[in-house]
Amino acid sequence: MERTVILIKPDALDRGIAFEVASRFEKMGFKIVAVKMVHMTPNLSKEHYSHLVEKPFYPNIEAFMTSKPVIAMILEGKDAVNVVRKRLGKTNAREAEPGTIRGDYSMSTQKNLIHASDSIETAEKEIKRFFKPEEIFTYSRANEESFYARDEL
Ligand code: ADP
Repeated sequence: MERTVILIKPDALDRGIAFEVASRFEKMGFKIVAVKMVHMTPNLSKEHYSHLVEKPFYPNIEAFMTSKPVIAMILEGKDAVNVVRKRLGKTNAREAEPGTIRGDYSMSTQKNLIHASDSIETAEKEIKRFFKPEEIFTYSRANEESFYARDEL
């Protein structure tokens, strides 16, 4: 099992679809092992988007991501990092495939509703960035294995 971090961005809260977005992953079979609201600071935004800080549009990203809280979650499941990233769709929502969250709900490059860790290494860093160990829960769901019934575990 793998863990990945998602951040449900301020535009999802504005539009009242924050949990609709999260619900997609829950229904797929991902287990929510941590969830909290975080009001990102400029420093946290710079750390999180360090690969974009030099870009001319970075100040807009920071203003957006610090404008109101985000909902941070850790999702656990098989191949979580890759599967969740695929379900997000491309960064520019107008290029995102139908069926993806961005493809189905957004028209924007910046206001694209959700962030997810882009690699296992990034996920490990983001888990530490957003969560204390005691905020992460270990539990079993009823019939958990049924989500993977046809797979070798
Ligand atoms: P992703 O979120 O798909 O992993 P990036 O790491 O490249 O993509 O970008 C982080 C976030 O910064 C994007 O999700 C989006 O909100 C914003 N962003 C990226 N590129 C642009 C851009 N050209 N203009 C405005 N916002 C952008």
